[in-house]
Amino acid sequence: MEYISTKDKNEKVTFKEALIKGLAKNKALYLPENIPVLSDLFFQNIEQLTNNEIAFKVLHPFVKESIDNKNLEEIIAETLSFPTPVVPVHDNIYTLELFHGPTKAFKDVGARFMSRCLSRFVSDRNRLTILVATSGDTGSAVANGFYDVPGINVVILFPKGKVSPYQEHQMCSLGNNIRAIEVEGTFDDCQALVKKAFSDPELNEKINLSSANSINIGRLLPQMLYYFFAYKELKAHNKQIVVSVPSGNFGNLTAGVIAKKMGLPIKRFIAATNSNDTFPKYLSTGIYEPKPSVSTYSNAMDVGAPSNFERLLHIYSKDIEEIKKDISSQSVDDATTLKEIKQVYKKYNYILDPHGAVGKICLNNDLADNETGIFLETANPRKFELVVNKAIDSFVPATFSLENCHKEMIENSYQQFCELL
Ligand SMILES: *Cc1c(COP(=O)(O)O)cnc(C)c1O
Repeated sequence: MEYISTKDKNEKVTFKEALIKGLAKNKALYLPENIPVLSDLFFQNIEQLTNNEIAFKVLHPFVKESIDNKNLEEIIAETLSFPTPVVPVHDNIYTLELFHGPTKAFKDVGARFMSRCLSRFVSDRNRLTILVATSGDTGSAVANGFYDVPGINVVILFPKGKVSPYQEHQMCSLGNNIRAIEVEGTFDDCQALVKKAFSDPELNEKINLSSANSINIGRLLPQMLYYFFAYKELKAHNKQIVVSVPSGNFGNLTAGVIAKKMGLPIKRFIAATNSNDTFPKYLSTGIYEPKPSVSTYSNAMDVGAPSNFERLLHIYSKDIEEIKKDISSQSVDDATTLKEIKQVYKKYNYILDPHGAVGKICLNNDLADNETGIFLETANPRKFELVVNKAIDSFVPATFSLENCHKEMIENSYQQFCELL
């Protein structure tokens, strides 16, 4: 399997190169050159396989030229060291809980897989610096996933005042090979600084840069796995499955789409967004108009210019009608999100986090009786205690301390950023 650039199909690299480079030339993204289709037999017998066996089957064709079988098995075992249960919420609505990893959000799977692959590709002589912009969860998952991994430094940029205290704690408390930088600006500003660094020849001469944002294909691919695991759990229902994906940069959704293209029987997806509604607007008007992000309760989805949009376009050959066959999209505001958290707790005794709530609301609006709906619970509600507390009085927040945390602070300035590197 080779990987091609979204902007130039003649730019081809191996999985290893795509993982290390992060971005293709001209800020383009890497995508597998083709998407392998799994056999009918695999899907017929999927219940008999363990999750690790499923993961091996799914990922093997994408990485086999760069990672041998034994290493892939080890990487998978280390990546999937926590459960991803499907939990019934009410009627035909289920949630796939993706927050049982070390940083309590779904990004652990991608970050752990990527770090363990990378650690097999680098040596102390060619130390790698991972640059990552985060609106909260990526930073904590990457910090945790790469902590103490030999040969790798991590630099995390996060927007001042836009991440929860708990997220800040997770990013800033590790130290060692992990540095956290607070930027006077928005997530999009952080992302712009990172993108600029990657296309800066002088800087790239000096340090060996790589990305760990969801733009890195090494984070995206393992996210396909959840959809396979969910299918395995719900297959016996014999109903068509609709998955609602709380979306920001659209990495999770893109992974789902690739899983579907591999033959996974998911009927369709709902791209659930908060007030950052660039994608639902695109589907309804045909016009893609990225804009600055606005802050919401579901801050890990506060993205005005979703970076994986380019990949989606590429996968669907830029045909919006083809996209619409597989994906619908809605935008949900904060007041509705809060109301949903309150009601679902009261009626069904299930505690949603703000991101999962957005996903569930979209399912409520758009699910037929003969369908089974799954929304992804992308974060533990305790990670967003300030919001959940507004909806549920008795909610007990996670305990942590910001005391031993260390962060560096910069203006939204590329020069200042480079001086720190
Ligand atoms: C990152 C994140 C999302 C959005 O995922 P994308 O792949 O960027 O669309 C949703 N919820 C939570 C909790 C996240 O951390």
